[in-house]
Amino acid sequence: MHPQHPPTLDPLDWTTIQPHIDALLAVDLEPRQVREWLQRWSDLASVLDEAGTQIYREITENTADEEADARFKRLVTEIMPRIAQAEQALRQKLLAVNGYEPTQETAQLLRYFRAESDIFCEANIPILSELQLMGKQYMEIIGGLGIRWRGRTLTIPQAEAHLSDRDRTVREQVWRLSLDAYLAHRQELNDLFLNMLARRKRLAQNAGFPDFRAYQWLAKGRFDYTPEDCFIFHDAIEREVTPLATEIYRTLADNLNLPSLRPWELSISGPAKPTVDAYEQPLRPFGEPAELEEIAHRIFNRVAPAFGAYFAEMRDGYLDLESRPNKAPGGYCNSYPVSGKPYIFMNAAGTHRDVRTLMHEGGHAFHFAEAFRRQSLLWNYHGPMEFNEVASMAMELLSAPYWNKTNGGFYNEEDFARAYAEQLIDALLFLPYMAVVDALQHWLYVEAGEEVDAGDIDRKWSELWDRFLPGIDYSGLQTEKETGWHRKGHIFGSPFYYVEYGLAQLGALQIWRNALEDQENAVAAYRRALAAGYTEPLPRLFEMAGARFAFDREIVGELVTLVRDQLAQL
Ligand SMILES: [Zn+2]
Repeated sequence: MHPQHPPTLDPLDWTTIQPHIDALLAVDLEPRQVREWLQRWSDLASVLDEAGTQIYREITENTADEEADARFKRLVTEIMPRIAQAEQALRQKLLAVNGYEPTQETAQLLRYFRAESDIFCEANIPILSELQLMGKQYMEIIGGLGIRWRGRTLTIPQAEAHLSDRDRTVREQVWRLSLDAYLAHRQELNDLFLNMLARRKRLAQNAGFPDFRAYQWLAKGRFDYTPEDCFIFHDAIEREVTPLATEIYRTLADNLNLPSLRPWELSISGPAKPTVDAYEQPLRPFGEPAELEEIAHRIFNRVAPAFGAYFAEMRDGYLDLESRPNKAPGGYCNSYPVSGKPYIFMNAAGTHRDVRTLMHEGGHAFHFAEAFRRQSLLWNYHGPMEFNEVASMAMELLSAPYWNKTNGGFYNEEDFARAYAEQLIDALLFLPYMAVVDALQHWLYVEAGEEVDAGDIDRKWSELWDRFLPGIDYSGLQTEKETGWHRKGHIFGSPFYYVEYGLAQLGALQIWRNALEDQENAVAAYRRALAAGYTEPLPRLFEMAGARFAFDREIVGELVTLVRDQLAQL
C-alpha cells in the first residue's frame, strides 16, 4: 500500500516542491478520484516529513553541527510557511468536492481538515506569529533563570536536582533561591501573559467564536468531549484522587520524620511529585546506555514479541540514547513516514527516569510502527493527541511488571517494588495537578471576564490549589503559592493543552488493569487500537484498546481503588 516511487524533490528547494503542489491543485477533482488524489498528497507530504525528521534529528544529536543548523533554519523559515499555505489550499480543494462520501479511512481526517479550515482566518496569521514569539519570550525568561549556590551558578533544572538532597536545609535554601529567581520576573511574566490573553481573545473574535475556549476546542480537534466533561473529570479527581494524594503526602512525611511535606519536597515546575523518598540511595537501574538498550529490548519482548521485533529494528541505527556533549536536552520519539522507521532520542544518565522515558517513547514508537503497517495515508499514522499519549503511558505501565531481574529487567525485588510503586503514585499525583492547570484555563478564557488582572489569576490559582492539593504545607508562602501558574509553561505556550494527559492516563490505567487479569488479550487489544492510527474516533480507539472513554467518578474511583490495592501488595 505504501508508495513504491515517492516523488523526487529536494526538500530544501521550494522550486522542486512547487510543481508537485501545482499538479495536485490542477486536478479537476471528482468524488471518485479523491482517494487516489489524497494518496498523492500523502506521498508528497511524507517525503517532506521524512526530511524534517532527519534534519531535526541532526540538530538535536549535535547542536554544534552548523550545516545541520543552517538546513533547519532554511526548512523553518523558507519551506514550512509555504507548505502551510499550500496545505490550506489543498484542504479547501478537497472540502469543496461535492458528493464525496467519506470512508472509514478518510472520515476522521476530513473532520479535522474541516475544523482547521473553519478556524482559519487571514486576520489571525500575524496574531498567531506574535503569540509564537511571545511564547518564545516566556521560554527565554524561564531558560535564563538561575541561582548562585555554593559559588556556582545553577539553572533551575540543576537547582531542582538539589531538591532530592537528604538534607532538608539544602532543599529549603535551594527552593527559596529558585522561587526568588521566578519572583524577580513576576511583573514581566504578568504583563506578558495578559498580553497573550488579549491576543487569544482576539483570535476567537476574528474567527467568529464566542470565546477562546470554543476556538481552541476546534483547533485541538476535540470532537468527542466537551468542557462539561472536563468539569465532571475535575470533580471526580477532587472526590476520588485528592484524598489519596493527601494520604500519600502524609505517609511520606511520616517516613521522613517530618511534621508535613513542604514545597521544597516537591518539583518546582511540574506535577506535585515528591523529589525525596524514604530511601538512602537513588535507584540505579543500569550503568552504560548499552545496558539500558539491552535490558529494554528484553522487557519489550516480554510485553509482546512484536514490540521486541520493532525495537530490534530500531537498534539498527534508530536510537540515540546516551548523554554526551553537544546533544540537545530531553527525550522524544519521531518517525520517518517514507521508510516506516520510528526513532528515539534521549539523554540517559543511569537513573530510573531514563527507564521510564525509554518505555514511554517506546510506546510512541510502536504506535507508529503498528499504524504504518496497516495504514497508507500519512494522516492516519498517528492517532489523536489524547490517544497518542495512551500508547506511551500504557507502555510505561505494561512494562512495569517486567522491571525486575527475575523477568530480565533492571532491579532486585526490593528496588522493583520501589520503582513500581513510584510509577503508580506518580500516575495518581499527576491528576490533581492537571486539574488545577485545566480548571484555571476554563475560568480564565470563559468566566473571568474582560477586566481580569494578574491578582485575580493569583487568587484563582491559589483557590484551585487548595481544592485539589491541600496536602502540601504552604504556610507563610502565599506569594510563592499563588504565582504557581508562572511556573507552568503550558499556560503560556500551549493554552488548554494539558487535559489530554489526564484523559490518556485513565486509558493507560485501564489497559494496565486488563493486563493484570489477562496479559495476552489486553496487549492484543492495545495493538489493534495502535494499528487503527486515526481511522476511528477517540472513544472508539479507547474501546478497541479495552478501555472506556469516560472521566466520571465511577471510572476514576475504580482505578484509584485498584492502584491502592496494588500499592498495598507492593
Ligand atoms: Zn508522550
